[in-house]
Amino acid sequence: MGADMGAGIDADMGTQAPFHAITPFTMLDFPDLCACILWVAGCNMRCGYCHNPQIVLGKGTIGEAEAIAFLQRRVGLLDGVVLSGGEATTWPGLVGFAARVKAMGFAAKLDTNGLRPDVVMRLLEGRLVDRIALDYKAPPARFRQVTATTAYSRFSATLELLCGQSDVPFEVRTTVHTGLLDEGDILWIARDLAARGYSGRYAVQRAVTNRDRPTLGCMAPEERSLDIARLEAESPIALAVR
Ligand code: SF4
Repeated sequence: MGADMGAGIDADMGTQAPFHAITPFTMLDFPDLCACILWVAGCNMRCGYCHNPQIVLGKGTIGEAEAIAFLQRRVGLLDGVVLSGGEATTWPGLVGFAARVKAMGFAAKLDTNGLRPDVVMRLLEGRLVDRIALDYKAPPARFRQVTATTAYSRFSATLELLCGQSDVPFEVRTTVHTGLLDEGDILWIARDLAARGYSGRYAVQRAVTNRDRPTLGCMAPEERSLDIARLEAESPIALAVR
């Protein structure tokens, strides 16, 4: 687990190349669409189980012009663009870039940890995203332990925005390492989602830990698995356990 980063880590990304990498084709990350993934370098969290420390801690090597040139070659071949990371909302150029993506005719999906409700609001107001995947990292009592930030209120504002004012489809998901979260935490989140009126499926996915590929916090593999039967019996909303 990284050091406590206070309310969040907002790196200065104004001048550096924003992208760590481009995945040219995926059928898995944008439901029902053929898409590419643009991985924005940098993140405002430090999750111990993060299996992309090179994206979180490294600098981008692909500039905006190079990414646009790639997309121009994919017009008519791909349906969508996934803006992922790291944390895409930490890049000051994200809103303008999303506008360029949409102007080229692509659908756009944002993967976010929710710490920048202001950026999500601008994307929604500009109708610049067609889908959002929101990571609900942990209940408030565990948020700092999992993310090394104390910014649950900012995440909560993003969730409120999506549940209340937006007609953009979104999915909530939690990555679970049982050394950090237990069944009670997952059920707390499920009840919170139900109370906020979330009507989608709640995706619960296992953290990837592999001794040959250290995570950001060098976490050991899980010592036990989640009790899926208990989660499915007690959750007030539909779960999708992956
Ligand atoms: S897992 Fe955590 S640290 Fe890694 S990219 Fe996602 S939000 Fe950032």
